[in-house]
Amino acid sequence: MNLDTKSAILERMVDIYDKFVDEFDLACDKYCAHCCTANVTMTTLEGYRIFSHFMKSGMMDDMRTIVGNAHPDRFVPLVSINRMADICAKDGDPPEEHLNPEAGPCPVLVDDACPLYQVRPFGCRCMVSAQNCGETGFAEMDPFILTVNDVFLQHIEHIDAQGYTGNFADVMKFLESEENRKKYSAGRLEAASEGLVANQPVFVLMIPPEHRERIQPLLTQIRSIQV
Ligand code: SF4
Ligand code: SF4
Repeated sequence: MNLDTKSAILERMVDIYDKFVDEFDLACDKYCAHCCTANVTMTTLEGYRIFSHFMKSGMMDDMRTIVGNAHPDRFVPLVSINRMADICAKDGDPPEEHLNPEAGPCPVLVDDACPLYQVRPFGCRCMVSAQNCGETGFAEMDPFILTVNDVFLQHIEHIDAQGYTGNFADVMKFLESEENRKKYSAGRLEAASEGLVANQPVFVLMIPPEHRERIQPLLTQIRSIQV
């Protein structure tokens, strides 16, 4: 599957997700940015979409600033979500991830708004809450939304199975290099490095028994995507 096809599938998945989440009563609104932290992660496929947006919008200086302002203690995943699902399915011990909740705001934020809102990573898109997190101190998320989020994250990684997952800043740093972008576009990546982890296909979906029936229509929609 070439990069254009993968990107088109990603767009369709985002549309399906947006329609799904629209049915919930959420407190999320413009300029509500408590959830916009330096710890957001994404796949190289999403990063490539964002990189293209930076290029088209003449925002390359902004991208360099974002990479330069990466928090030194930002979350750097040790495994991807599909790898984590595999480990858990085999009753293995997933590695202990280090996440500093005080790592500060996302380096992309400008005046509490996201200049990349339309193309933001799925990890940002799926962060929703029924109550304003600024008032409660935490996000209040329907457990079914959490399950759906995992399933979408797993499928996005699946489409980008030859790519990497990493912190937003690390993925952008990787894609800043023209050589890396060429290799990625051509599907010729080597072993993951510089804070990135290798993606893999889905082998087991993280769906608790109580959501297996309810999620079927969404799974059908995802699996019916044709581009
Ligand atoms: S998840 Fe919380 S902080 Fe983020 S937009 Fe929604 S209500 Fe605001
Ligand atoms: S990329 Fe945008 S939506 Fe995501 S955390 Fe950063 S500012 Fe928020």
